[in-house]
Amino acid sequence: VVVGTPGTAEQLSVELGRLGVRGVYAAEADGADALLVSPEAAAVETILRGHDDISAVFLTNSPMAKECAARLGVRLDLPYFSDVLAVRRDGEFVIDQEAFGGAYRVRSSLNTSPPLICLRPTSTPVELSPAQADIYPVPLELDGIAGARITGRHEHTGTNPRPALTTASVIVSGGRGMGSAEDFALVETLADRLGAAVGATRAAVDSGFCGQDLQVGQTGATVAPEIYIALGISGAIQHRAGMQGSGKIIAVNKDPNAPIFEIADLGVVGDVAKIVPALLDILPARV
Ligand SMILES: Cc1cc2nc3c(=O)[nH]c(=O)nc-3n(C[C@H](O)[C@H](O)[C@H](O)COP(=O)(O)OP(=O)(O)OC[C@H]3O[C@@H](n4cnc5c(N)ncnc54)[C@H](O)[C@@H]3O)c2cc1C
Repeated sequence: VVVGTPGTAEQLSVELGRLGVRGVYAAEADGADALLVSPEAAAVETILRGHDDISAVFLTNSPMAKECAARLGVRLDLPYFSDVLAVRRDGEFVIDQEAFGGAYRVRSSLNTSPPLICLRPTSTPVELSPAQADIYPVPLELDGIAGARITGRHEHTGTNPRPALTTASVIVSGGRGMGSAEDFALVETLADRLGAAVGATRAAVDSGFCGQDLQVGQTGATVAPEIYIALGISGAIQHRAGMQGSGKIIAVNKDPNAPIFEIADLGVVGDVAKIVPALLDILPARV
């Protein structure tokens, strides 16, 4: 579903087709880009009310998409799932999600549909099969629609050339165990060598080792890369909440009893100041 000003869906259709989208519902109206969430919720509501053969609605797991799905759940009395890690359909839907900041993993099965599913990025392997994205117009009436109005947009242009934290397939994260802002540079060097994003714990952020935009966890980013490398990270529940959906977790910690080893696929007990330079010595330089 594309919601925007007239012409937006047309502009995006080639790229969406490349990603395997076969049909685009285009809900377009002047001013649709000046309201927060309400146009998206109105568009999906119109589509759902007009079709009784939709088996599931998938959304991203962003704050905006979660709000949109929650509104639709209330309006249409549909089941809503956020922080979803996996979805299967064996007759009925079986949905795995994290709850209570990652303290629990919940499996639900349901036989009512369509569920509204906010899927965590990178939680599911993607196979691209390019298609022709046909466009189906959807009426979008904005007169009298309630909602917060967007009064300005400011692009955050960082100079960071690394992959984005929330979509990276490899993340190297550093914790307080890195010791100092200077030594946190080892995390960045390893990340660059692997073409990875850099993450951090809240303790590393609070210690001034790096910016808050790198924080992973309950009050930071939620990530699910293929490989998550945790350096000098204890594995507190609030950190795990943001990364335990990762494919493979590799941890380096000098304390053999650190909780991070409970969820690590590969654990190295040792000093990051020795292990990481040794690793850099054997990793080929990236071209
Ligand atoms: C409401 C709330 C929200 C929170 N949100 C978040 C969040 O979003 N993200 C987050 O990360 N935290 C969050 N926290 C904080 C969380 O509880 C932990 O304090 C934090 O994750 C710990 O970070 P750390 O592992 O870097 O530090 P520590 O717990 O201090 O662990 C450092 C680890 O490094 C190891 N170490 C030390 N030196 C070395 C060395 N030379 N070589 C190898 N290992 C070494 C130690 O053995 C230790 O295990 C939150 C807390 C609260 C209360």
